[in-house]
Amino acid sequence: MRTGIGYDIHRLAPGRALILGGVRIDHPLGPTGHSDADVLTHAVIDALLGAAGLGDIGEHFPDTDPAYKDADSSALLADVVGTLEARGLVVHNVDTIVVAERPKLAPYKPKIKERLARVLKIDPDRVNVKAKTAEGTGAEGRQAAISAWATATLAER
Ligand code: MG
Repeated sequence: MRTGIGYDIHRLAPGRALILGGVRIDHPLGPTGHSDADVLTHAVIDALLGAAGLGDIGEHFPDTDPAYKDADSSALLADVVGTLEARGLVVHNVDTIVVAERPKLAPYKPKIKERLARVLKIDPDRVNVKAKTAEGTGAEGRQAAISAWATATLAER
């Protein structure tokens, strides 16, 4: 077994789509970024790369590369899962935390789990999504940013 940790944060701006784990969330603010700025998927990618000892998301998908402008982060995640498979690694489970003052993510959790699990090629019960507010403190509390944490465990085939 191998474990990894991932973290990501993006600024929030009006009129940007809020996509978490590949799921579109209805909210007037969304993260800014070179790709679709899916902060949760980015944290999961870094957790997977960390567990595999393969560096970080910026090394694999540079935000200076026009190829990744507005990129679908779920496609990047699928690409990483393929890289792991090629090295004989399979995802055992993933645990995550999204830190956002608003909106309430509880209604979206089942869909996010299902979507991430499909891309990770594992059962939804091996993907956990937790949502927390920042109790009004810091960048997330002011709704200036949204952040996410993830851990991943990989099994060697
Ligand atoms: Mg990011």
